[in-house]
Amino acid sequence: ALLLEISQLNRKFETSNGNVQALEGINLNINAGEFITVIGPSGCGKSTLLKIIAGLDIQHSGSVKLENQQVAGPGIDKGFIFQEPRLFPWLTVEKNIAADLSLRNPQIRQKVDELIELVKLKGFEKSYPRELSGGMAQRVAIARALLRNPKVLLLDEPFGALDAFTRSHMQDVLLDIWQKNKTTMIFVTHDIDEAIYLANRVVVLKPRPGSIRRIFPIDLPYP
Ligand code: ADP
Ligand code: ADP
Repeated sequence: ALLLEISQLNRKFETSNGNVQALEGINLNINAGEFITVIGPSGCGKSTLLKIIAGLDIQHSGSVKLENQQVAGPGIDKGFIFQEPRLFPWLTVEKNIAADLSLRNPQIRQKVDELIELVKLKGFEKSYPRELSGGMAQRVAIARALLRNPKVLLLDEPFGALDAFTRSHMQDVLLDIWQKNKTTMIFVTHDIDEAIYLANRVVVLKPRPGSIRRIFPIDLPYP
C-alpha cells in the first residue's frame, strides 16, 4: 500500500550568497514496509528531503502526504534518528527510551522491554549514556524512536560517526529490526556500499547545477 506520496517538491533557501535551490521537482512514492536508502553527494538535498518528510521543515512548495494526509509538522507517526544519538545524559537507557511516558505503566514497561530486546541492549536497562559505546547509544535512540510505533522511521546518516566495524554491526541490527517490525525505513547516506546493502530500493538524488554553493567568487580580482 502507498504510504508516502511526494509530488513536485521544491525547497529554496535564501542565503546571503543568493538563493540555493536545495530540491526541485521531486516526485517519489514509497510503499509501506519498504526500506529506502537515499544517496547522493554532500549538498544534494538529502537532509532537507528527510526533514521535510519529518515535518521539521515546512517552508517548501509541493505536496508531501503520509497515508493521504498532508504532512503539516512533526508527530509521533514519524520517528527521526540523527547522526548523534541525542540521549538525555541524566537518564538511564530505559528512561531514555520511555521518554515522557511512565515505566510504572505496565503496557509501557512491556513495550520498553520488547524494544530493549529488539535493539540488543538486554542487561543495560539501568546504564547511563556515558557508559555506552557509540553503537549502543545509537541503538537506544532507535528504540526511543520506535516507542510509539511510527509509520516511518527517518534516519539521517545514523551510522556516519561510527567506526567501520560498529557500523557494519549496526546495519545488521537495523535490518533485523526492519524484518521483525516491518517499519518503513527511509535512510539517508552518502556511502554507496551502505545504501546498496540496506535497501530494497535506492533513491539517487542528483545535485542540481545551481545547488552547489560557490566557495570563491568567480570574478577573482586580477593581481
Ligand atoms: P545533503 O544532506 O545532501 O548534504 P542538505 O539537504 O543538507 O544536503 O543541503 C542541500 C542544499 O541546501 C545545500 O546546498 C545546503 O547548503 C543548502 N541548505 C541546507 N540547509 C540550509 C539552510 N538552513 N540555510 C541555507 N542553505 C541551506
Ligand atoms: P556496538 O558494535 O553495538 O557499538 P561494541 O562493539 O562497542 O558494540 O560492544 C560490543 C559489546 O560489548 C556490547 O554489546 C556490550 O555488551 C559490550 N560493551 C561495549 N561497551 C561497553 C561498556 N562501555 N560497558 C559495558 N559493556 C560494553
